[in-house]
Amino acid sequence: MSIAKVEPLTTARALRGPFDYRLPAEMADVGVGSVVRVPFGRQRMLGVVVGLAETSEIPPERLAEPIEALETGVPAELVRLGLWVAREYCSTPSRGLRLVLPPGAGVRRRRARPRVEHTGVGTAAAGAPKLLPEQDEAVAAIVAALDGATGADRELLLHGVTGSGKTEVYLAAVEAALAMGRGAIVLVPEIGLAPQAVARFRARLGDRIAVLHSALTDGERYDEWRRLRSGEASVCVGPRSAVFAPVENLGLLVIDEEHDPSYKQEGDPSYDARAVARHRAAECGAVLLAGTATPRPETWLGMPRLELPRRVDGLRMPPVEVLDMRGTDPRSGPLHPATWEALEGVRRAGAKAIVMINRRGFAPWLTCRSCGHHWNCPNCDVSLIVHRHSRRLVCHHCSHAETLPSVCGKCDSTTLSRAGAGTQRIEELLTRRLGPMPVFRLDSDIAAGRGAHAEILARFDVADSAVLVGTQMVAKGHDFPEVTLSAILDADATLRFPDFRAGERTFAMVAQLAGRSGRGEAGGEVIVQTLAPEAPSIARAAGHDAAAFLEGELERRRALRYPPFSHLTRINLSSELEPRLGSVAAHLAGELADALPEGTDLLGPAPMFRVRGRHRRRLLMKAADREGTVAVVREVVERLAADRSLREVSIGVDVDPQ
Ligand code: ADP
Ligand code: ZN
Ligand code: ZN
Repeated sequence: MSIAKVEPLTTARALRGPFDYRLPAEMADVGVGSVVRVPFGRQRMLGVVVGLAETSEIPPERLAEPIEALETGVPAELVRLGLWVAREYCSTPSRGLRLVLPPGAGVRRRRARPRVEHTGVGTAAAGAPKLLPEQDEAVAAIVAALDGATGADRELLLHGVTGSGKTEVYLAAVEAALAMGRGAIVLVPEIGLAPQAVARFRARLGDRIAVLHSALTDGERYDEWRRLRSGEASVCVGPRSAVFAPVENLGLLVIDEEHDPSYKQEGDPSYDARAVARHRAAECGAVLLAGTATPRPETWLGMPRLELPRRVDGLRMPPVEVLDMRGTDPRSGPLHPATWEALEGVRRAGAKAIVMINRRGFAPWLTCRSCGHHWNCPNCDVSLIVHRHSRRLVCHHCSHAETLPSVCGKCDSTTLSRAGAGTQRIEELLTRRLGPMPVFRLDSDIAAGRGAHAEILARFDVADSAVLVGTQMVAKGHDFPEVTLSAILDADATLRFPDFRAGERTFAMVAQLAGRSGRGEAGGEVIVQTLAPEAPSIARAAGHDAAAFLEGELERRRALRYPPFSHLTRINLSSELEPRLGSVAAHLAGELADALPEGTDLLGPAPMFRVRGRHRRRLLMKAADREGTVAVVREVVERLAADRSLREVSIGVDVDPQ
């Protein structure tokens, strides 16, 4: 008799699989990774076969049979990976396995559309440029690792400024893996899947690549997934979730822009695609290649480096001017006189500029000058943001929005003051002063619709002379040779976040923005407005000195025992009922304090500001023993989750929070 051990795909945390099912003769080809529909209590559920056995502890007559097996299953390697993620990130097997299933699994679908073939014969068409010596060296190191040469490092950091030819190295490495009959995965931040970037991969690798991105429909994603599963395609390019792509005989895993925060999943499981990639590569003997201009401290410390120290085009990195805003009169507005001067220079020269301010909306605060009333969100403990175009006050944490008032509801005064600046206000100031030069704004209010984002970038691209103003979105990955000035208005805004990664984030943001300027023959400059000019993240980014920033940052983290010198785990609790939340948080902290391994610091429960009407508390653990800590957290949280009297409190676990 054949028994299938099936993990049902349920959301219930307390349910503990796998469960045994008897396989009938016609399901002889069911194996680890098969997706089956099974009777479960009174329901029918989808489940994944995680093991096979000859016998069961349950008498055969009491075992049910699966109702059906779906046409396509998952490779056994990915079943192991999904279960590993579940354990590693304190989630459930079911949630871990969902990550590796075919897109839309279990939904009865229409027949796959026939694919539209792009012209040409399908194989790689475009040739490769002759690599520079540094690129050659990097590729040689990767090929040695692919070959399994003794002493070759199998995890490599490709550190090179923007435009230093990193993508060319990835392409050559992927081609080398393919030539050895092995597959590859290239992870990129979602924003990196711009049509031009994808076209570059397609031009070189032809239809051997499958692209998985969130703009595709489930059906389209399923088609791409099937092409990989069947071996028709052997390279997958995609964002974080592509780390679970069913690539056979994986030889190479590339993580482009490895510093990008989008590699961390916010929901459950709170996996980090970089850590998953590292694990998967190690398990299947693949080479891991992480590339960036601004590596994370943990990557810098943990991986041998390949350096691409200069731009391919021979251009210098643009000079960076740091403008100290502490002495300036706040009434003179959010732009320093020198910034205005530089922008006017761009207008005279008929060139282009990028201006970044990391806050959308018009103004972040609305206050009454007469009585001091301040407009806050009724559901969240935060200020409402003034949105000028829609004439509304909007909460950036929940969907709350109200009409922008013209008189104070408390005292009837009309002297309302809108303090601070967001993208809309900067857009207005720039338009007023620099017109008729066009000003384009890019932030998530604009880019809500699919395609709107690309359209604005395209209009900026074809304009003769223009300014692009926006949030962090403007700092990522585009290449506009006519940009001769990039300016960041509030470089220290991210530094004020109460987060040990604030410095790292600020460094990456300033350095990435600096990389947007001076990519053409006209050269360029960079302006950084800040209240903290001496902060290492700003001073080092201004000097284009990643190494010095990282050495200092690592020293600081060692002293404070932050990652990579410890492991963090966070528990987020929330409830509409504050007293209830307080007692559950205290109870949880008590249980953890008793059970956590020696050397784990437990901080909190700390109150967080209210969001969407829910009060919040947070517990943080700093651990030397990651595995031991996660195991205790899993055990304690599962026990609480099973306790129905605690239903009003929701508990989420974030391992390695970002
Ligand atoms: P990065 O990924 O580091 O930003 P890219 O690989 O995109 O850099 O290279 C920047 C530009 O230089 C691209 O247009 C690319 O085609 C070109 N390029 C890269 N390497 C070479 C080379 N060896 N010879 C000529 N052009 C190159
Ligand atoms: Zn008032
Ligand atoms: Zn709100």
